[in-house]
Amino acid sequence: MKPEKIVSEVWKISGGSGLSSNVYLVDVIEPTLIDLGSPENTKSLIKSLKELGYDSKDIVNVVFTHLHFDHVGRPSKFGSASFFASEEEISAFDKNPSGVAIADEVISELKSVKLKPLGDEIAGLKVIKTPGHTVGSVCLWLPEQKVLFSGDTIFSDGVYGRVDLPTSVPDKMRISLEKLRLLKYKVLCPGH
Ligand SMILES: [Zn+2]
Repeated sequence: MKPEKIVSEVWKISGGSGLSSNVYLVDVIEPTLIDLGSPENTKSLIKSLKELGYDSKDIVNVVFTHLHFDHVGRPSKFGSASFFASEEEISAFDKNPSGVAIADEVISELKSVKLKPLGDEIAGLKVIKTPGHTVGSVCLWLPEQKVLFSGDTIFSDGVYGRVDLPTSVPDKMRISLEKLRLLKYKVLCPGH
């Protein structure tokens, strides 16, 4: 899949027509990936990164918007990176891996790496907690460029993510969407 430049230092590697999420490379401070797509897309993701001049071991951070199988890919292929998700998402995964990941084939991969809890900021990206689609979903925000990475919380057509999945919290979705609306983003980079 050909990488597409979004703004300076931000590229989109499309998840294509399947279930796989989009992956975003943000190199404002250091090479950081937002989500990894589906496991079966890993080869094409690594190929796309090569086209941009990055080797898989150049990736310093991988930030998961949430831990659904179509976003977590194969983290073991990015062995030099640190992996991050929200504290809420990590603790839900520890309690109920199948409910959080949805597809069991990614569980052992996810358990093979250390998931670190996100703080307020990572590699120039502000972390915005947006529970709803899952209990620990986050969006990421590049304030200067006004670019919002919205995971499965909101999509380009204004449609919001499903809230009927095992770890969804439908009651919190409205407040999360309001938080995003107030950002007045210029560019929306959704998970699909
Ligand atoms: Zn999802």
